[in-house]
Amino acid sequence: MSRVPIHRISLPTPFPVGAIHTYLILGERPTLVDAGVASDASWQALLAGLAEHGLAITDLERVVLTHGHVDHYGQAARIRGESGAEVWAHARTAPLVASYPWSTPPVVAANVDFFFQNGAPRDVAERVGEFLANAVDLQQGVTVDQAVEHGAELPLTEDHALTIFEVAGHYPGHIVLYDAESRELLGGDHLLDDGTTVPFLFLKDWDRGIRPRSLILFLQSLEHVARLDVERVLPGHGSFELSHRVWIERIRKHHARIQRRIRHHLEKGPATVHEVARRLYRGQLDVYTFLVFSEVVGNLDVLERDGDVESFLGDDGLTRYRVTSSEARATRVPMLRLDRDGRWSEGGEEITHLGTIEVLTRGLTRASDGEGYVVVSGAEQRAVEVEDAPHVVVRVEQVGDALELRLAGGLVEPLDPSTLRIGGENVVYARVRGGLMARFARAAYYQLVERVVEDEAHGFVLVMPDGTRHPLGEGEAETAT
Ligand SMILES: [Zn+2]
Repeated sequence: MSRVPIHRISLPTPFPVGAIHTYLILGERPTLVDAGVASDASWQALLAGLAEHGLAITDLERVVLTHGHVDHYGQAARIRGESGAEVWAHARTAPLVASYPWSTPPVVAANVDFFFQNGAPRDVAERVGEFLANAVDLQQGVTVDQAVEHGAELPLTEDHALTIFEVAGHYPGHIVLYDAESRELLGGDHLLDDGTTVPFLFLKDWDRGIRPRSLILFLQSLEHVARLDVERVLPGHGSFELSHRVWIERIRKHHARIQRRIRHHLEKGPATVHEVARRLYRGQLDVYTFLVFSEVVGNLDVLERDGDVESFLGDDGLTRYRVTSSEARATRVPMLRLDRDGRWSEGGEEITHLGTIEVLTRGLTRASDGEGYVVVSGAEQRAVEVEDAPHVVVRVEQVGDALELRLAGGLVEPLDPSTLRIGGENVVYARVRGGLMARFARAAYYQLVERVVEDEAHGFVLVMPDGTRHPLGEGEAETAT
């Protein structure tokens, strides 16, 4: 495989974060990752950057958007218009860049209400609304030609492609691009080394009408990124000198420290988000109200998920947080749940991010006291309510003389036919990873049944590809064992 060079072209923005780095990839089809804001200065800088590599704007064939923030997609429409380049982005990003939803009156009003409800004075809440509404001038709505999902490939040459991963948290639909050949990771705003990676407060998930818990999603996405073998991170802003795993560890510690400080503050009595933010961030709160709120709300979400704090509505109509009483903690039901069809949810909200599902599935194990299940990741352990079996077989495949089970969450396990059991309602189970039960989903059940015959001596038997025959055990599937 040939290495494909990636060149940085920095474009000015009017934001405190400074320039945005776009990246020119000179494969068979010149591709630009991210687009800059829609402004004359940004356009001229782009033309000059392309010229340095002997390219005109009309030579661009693809623009990939890491996410739907204006500094990343603002002038994508103009590039597409002048060059005919295809725009690629995650499917969740497409509606966010088609128009600028932040600036629409209902979204601005929802943000103003949220800030007011969480203790910000009315004038501060309204300034946040103006800030959101004004950024509309820095963008033009753009059509996404190629909507991609987690795991999609961006072909560069005949034998070389980048892999696209969805990394939720900073913004819905955020993607990173990974070059397994050069071990470079185009990180967008997911990995920034100047403390500006803030999982943005996002009040409305356009899919489901509920507020996604950005920091929780962000920390889960980091688990996925930490597993990649990365030599060099190419960030959307600033420089990135650390190893990505060292950086990820720092980010985790940073948030753990903020959570301790918030807890410490709440131990003195209930407080609104604004009161906590004033205590922790003082002067920065007035300048960067939106970012500071994003950080505080995100960390309160983690504390609430872990049962350390709870929110309630005060007599004055404001939302406040307090430390959870020990009785409430003792009776708390796990918020993480895995249903019989293999769907994960957290606090009743389905988890759809495939990278997260893979991390949860890999970390799933029996609790050390033998009661129920936990997900282990790093030093963290979280209880999971498992409705039926902890794993779900979605497909059965023949590989040589063996059968392989494809599990929900992207895992592959060999089938040990001696562990097959038929439970109630003809549901079939097998033991996989560490002896945990896997339930065959409908399609996988039919694939298995094609290989089952009835035998006078043994009842139902599975005929393996090598011809060996294995009676199917009966009885309740001992899913709790
Ligand atoms: Zn961003």
